[in-house]
Amino acid sequence: MTGKSHKAQTPGRFGVYGGRYVPETLMAALEELEREYGKAKRDPEFKQQLEDLFRNYAGRPTPLFLARRLTEKLGGAKVYLKREDLLHTGAHKINNCLGQALLVERMGKHRVIAETGAGQHGVATATVCALFGFECVVYMGTEDMRRQELNVFRMRLLGAEVRGVDSGSRTLKDAINEAMRDWVTNVRTTHYLLGSVLGAHPYPTMVRDFHAVIGREARAQILKAEGKLPTAIIACVGGGSNSIGIFHHFLKDKKVQLVGVEAGGRGERLGEHAARFHGGKPGVLHGTYSYVLQDDAGQIATTHSVSAGLDYPSIGPEHAWLKDTSRAQYVAASDREALAACTLLAQTEGIIPALESAHAVADCVKRAPQMKKSEIVIVNVSGRGDKDMGILRENLKNC
Ligand SMILES: *Cc1c(COP(=O)(O)O)cnc(C)c1O
Repeated sequence: MTGKSHKAQTPGRFGVYGGRYVPETLMAALEELEREYGKAKRDPEFKQQLEDLFRNYAGRPTPLFLARRLTEKLGGAKVYLKREDLLHTGAHKINNCLGQALLVERMGKHRVIAETGAGQHGVATATVCALFGFECVVYMGTEDMRRQELNVFRMRLLGAEVRGVDSGSRTLKDAINEAMRDWVTNVRTTHYLLGSVLGAHPYPTMVRDFHAVIGREARAQILKAEGKLPTAIIACVGGGSNSIGIFHHFLKDKKVQLVGVEAGGRGERLGEHAARFHGGKPGVLHGTYSYVLQDDAGQIATTHSVSAGLDYPSIGPEHAWLKDTSRAQYVAASDREALAACTLLAQTEGIIPALESAHAVADCVKRAPQMKKSEIVIVNVSGRGDKDMGILRENLKNC
């Protein structure tokens, strides 16, 4: 079924995963997007525009930083941090938003919709819409709006309209359903700016390509600094975009271990975590076939994580493929481990990571001491912790 190669055989498929499971009304839009992206990819002008935005707007290249005190403390492998937290808006998400915004312009559309859970993707989308002068509507569950008041304000300040979704659990998956409904209705003028390597083809491939700059830079940077490749690369996995972004240019380097860290939450039972590879089964959610956390009747399970960005019941289809072919390994870090790792990084390096990224740091804390001093690990710090101050303060009372 899965074969030996990690390469997808057909466009939009990663082994058996991926595909395009959407209502007929969206097929034309997805085909248009695929065509337009295909053309853009081959156009040197598109490449140049994107590089210019990466450099002069987002702040690329991001540094690869040797974490000396953390390395010393862990007593094993040398730890480097890829600093996506230093990007404009505070996380890697801007890479993808800029890429898609350029495509919207090329398609002659002027209205962008997006869904958001904690608000991070909504803020990045509202940001690029302001930059490009697009109308922007962000769907958000009313429960999430209540929890993330400040991000709702931020999006509105950037000129976006935030539409509350009052159905279901009033969280991310309900917001996605509503955004899909809007897209079906307004598909001629509207682009759906999806925030991770999820959804129907071409999104998982396209979003990966926009984030592949992370690994392309990291590979050149580590070769320059150390003259060799790392033993392992560690990244957290929500939908899977920052991880696939740093993995992509290392896929062929078979000796480099690729480690994805899922949210172990507060326990192993269904509903207590968001570790799709530790309890999930293949299924279709939001247009793509991948691992999904579901109950025995196939109903989508509720999930929990201290970090909103990892709190999603499915995972990008390319990760499902990398998992089945064993090219990448997937582990989990618990809420408690992530919180401890966050404090550790703050106090050894003066860097407060996003709680999502702290899951990757937590795995490094377990892994690096088992490794030789001559070995290297790179941890992708996907975002900064400013957005998490409320949660951190609540959880680290004796800090
Ligand atoms: C959204 C987010 C994530 C999770 O999304 P991926 O698509 O898995 O990268 C991770 N880290 C940060 C900082 C985020 O904002």
